[in-house]
Amino acid sequence: MTARVLIVDDVPANVKLLEIRLAADYFDVVTASNGPDALAICERGQCDIVLLDVMMPGMDGFEVARRLKSNPATYHLPIIMITALDQPADRVRGIEAGADDFVTKPVDDVALLTRVRSLVRLKMVTDELRMRAAATREFGLPDPIIEVIDEQGTGGRILLVEDRPRMLEHLSKVLGAEHQVEAEQDPNEALFRVAEGGHDLAIISLDLTNFDALRLCSQIRSLERTRYLPILLLAQPEDRDRLLRGLDIGVNDYLIRPIDRNELLARARTQIRRRRYTDRLRDNVQHSIEMAITDGLTGLNNRRYMESHLAIMLDRAAARGRPVSVMLIDIDFFKTINDTWGHDAGDDVLREFALRLRSNIRGIDLTCRYGGEEFVVAMPDTDLNIAGIVAERLRQRIEAESFQIKGGAHSINVTISIGIATRRGTGDDVASLLRRADAAVYRAKSEGRNRVVSAAA
Ligand code: GH3
Ligand code: MG
Ligand code: MG
Repeated sequence: MTARVLIVDDVPANVKLLEIRLAADYFDVVTASNGPDALAICERGQCDIVLLDVMMPGMDGFEVARRLKSNPATYHLPIIMITALDQPADRVRGIEAGADDFVTKPVDDVALLTRVRSLVRLKMVTDELRMRAAATREFGLPDPIIEVIDEQGTGGRILLVEDRPRMLEHLSKVLGAEHQVEAEQDPNEALFRVAEGGHDLAIISLDLTNFDALRLCSQIRSLERTRYLPILLLAQPEDRDRLLRGLDIGVNDYLIRPIDRNELLARARTQIRRRRYTDRLRDNVQHSIEMAITDGLTGLNNRRYMESHLAIMLDRAAARGRPVSVMLIDIDFFKTINDTWGHDAGDDVLREFALRLRSNIRGIDLTCRYGGEEFVVAMPDTDLNIAGIVAERLRQRIEAESFQIKGGAHSINVTISIGIATRRGTGDDVASLLRRADAAVYRAKSEGRNRVVSAAA
């Protein structure tokens, strides 16, 4: 994994030292000697993570972090503060300003590099989501960053795993001031609870007796449901190596005992804020995928989706020697409906037709609005004979019950013409299959409409 690290420090020797260490680990390095330069580099999107000195003349590191976190263009950048300050109150101040971690000089190289790698890895997931979510703007979805930039990260649902009852009680009380806490002494039970979903953060003691907490972490990472759940470890100072191992397997953050109350709260808030941001991104992406494959008027799949899905259906059928049939449905004299009752009434008919269509086919059949008043149903494991029965049943159901238009003020009779075609043994693709179905519809129209015609097999 390679990433570009921005080192910000007003002392050239400090910059050099870090630069050498990072370059030796194949990181790309950019540097800045003051806050404003650092902000400009970040704003231009020229780095993946920021190593930030705290004490600098002019704008200090706290201010740089705050500005990065209040700018939508740089909100997502991870920040590690590197400083001679070593009091819990300093760390809390750094984390509250927006730092992901706070490293005290002299710097432990291995720990720093592990931390950088872990934050960069987490950022890559966010970057991917950000990129996809950027494409959602065309669908007019709200920008997730605007929604979360003032997010405080409180009121989260936290699962706390600690097997010493008094410690469990103490931490529950601390966290309970800002969150809803579920305390769990039994790590096996913890996995079950977390798998049920709905948590915003898991806080896990690394020094559980008779249980490897890292195993629990990796189990959480491998479950689909909890893959992205942030994990915060609580560790003894001498557990450094296992802690670093934890970061490598995807733990998000940690605290060293004795645990400072405010630091615990600050780190929990950071994780929950981040979680809410990525959840929003993920929702946007999900939503936009649905919109990209759905027809807005009827809620059926659209033509683009149907064509690619039908291609897969055909490949699978060819591999297994199974039939696939399609029906192409065209509403009769639809233009007349529009001309007589208005375009809105025409839309009512299309919506109602889509509902009836959906309720008349199997769940595994793929239904789409192919264009204007044309619809396609692709039916796996269905030969021409059965397709004909399905089509005829649908035709009768449309004819039998009139359609309500204009909010039920009128009802009109609607009929449809259907062409059906089935997959041929060799060389049949989406286009040729649909072409045969279309030719069959054409025949149905010319033979008087309101009928089903099969294309020659
Ligand atoms: P035929 O029986 O031969 O199929 O005649 P038709 O009138 O149904 O077919 P034609 O292709 O002449 O007209 C289809 C009409 O569907 C024309 C078009 O304006 C209308 N149309 C296409 N999309 C929509 C839509 O989203 N809403 C409405 N209300 N009308 C639409
Ligand atoms: Mg300095
Ligand atoms: Mg028509």
